[in-house]
Amino acid sequence: MRRRSDRLTAMDVGKAGWNKAMQEPVPGNPVACLEELGIQVDYVRDDEIQGRCPAHPKNLGKLDRGGHWSVNITTGDHNCFACGFYGPFVTLVEYVRGRGREDAVDWINERGSIERARLMLEGGYIEDIAEPEVEITEADMALYVEVPEWACQNRDLDPESCDFYGVRWDEETYHWIIPIRDPWTGKLWGWQEKGEEDRYFNNYPKHMQKSLTLFGFQQLQDDETAILVESPLDVVRLHTAGFPGGVACFGDRVSQEQMDLLNEVTSRILVAMDNDDAGERSSKMLHKHWSSRFRLRFLNYGRLDVKDVGDMDDEEIAEAVKTSFSGVLARFD
Ligand SMILES: [Zn+2]
Repeated sequence: MRRRSDRLTAMDVGKAGWNKAMQEPVPGNPVACLEELGIQVDYVRDDEIQGRCPAHPKNLGKLDRGGHWSVNITTGDHNCFACGFYGPFVTLVEYVRGRGREDAVDWINERGSIERARLMLEGGYIEDIAEPEVEITEADMALYVEVPEWACQNRDLDPESCDFYGVRWDEETYHWIIPIRDPWTGKLWGWQEKGEEDRYFNNYPKHMQKSLTLFGFQQLQDDETAILVESPLDVVRLHTAGFPGGVACFGDRVSQEQMDLLNEVTSRILVAMDNDDAGERSSKMLHKHWSSRFRLRFLNYGRLDVKDVGDMDDEEIAEAVKTSFSGVLARFD
């Protein structure tokens, strides 16, 4: 989750900002640019893109197998701590394209750089830059296939539960494809891509209003107890274990809009946020603000050393649900 304090504003850019922005531009969407440059992106976390260093072969005589090189999404600076290749984004483009600095500056400017610089100087936020319009349709999902048996087994998921929630699979990259839809119309907004054999994680398109919807909301029945979890695949895990009604809020924060959605359908929520500090904070926040509107219960992780329901077997899930707490204090005492 990006924090407001991480965002660059006009003040950070300073007086020399415009000149710097012109000489060392940063593209509107660095992830898309890396992909266009043929650089493998492993995952994106907070403000950092982790990927494969393109200078490794020249500097070290071997391919980067990951974990050394990152690009800061806000500043565009990149750095490889294994081979020492680093600098502003423009040096990366210059290196990979091999056509000089001027070509690299033009290339970046054609990809949303000027708009980004202007927005920063005007005090806007980088996140406000509109992505190039991408029209998402159901046909995009048709590129993906049914989740294979082995991947389901890895995560203890029933293939039928995957189907029930429309989860698909990219057979080239071995990535889970998790659809994100409009809560009411079901229109496809995009999807999350999650690696099974690597730590890849990405949203497509990059900026979806995930906080305005819930994974599993279309499947939630009227008056059914909603089981609120952080990650979509945990909804599938619950269904596999015999507990329908799972909904995922895509992270450790639950938005007002997401709670309003639930309020339209049910008055009972079993809170099953992750078994960690962030999950505890969220659970307490839900208790504080929403106890008057919903009948809330809190999943009992007991003494299990697990992060979330994705790590639990069917019996453990059943026990945790059966012994759930009606008060948040009982849960965390
Ligand atoms: Zn390197």
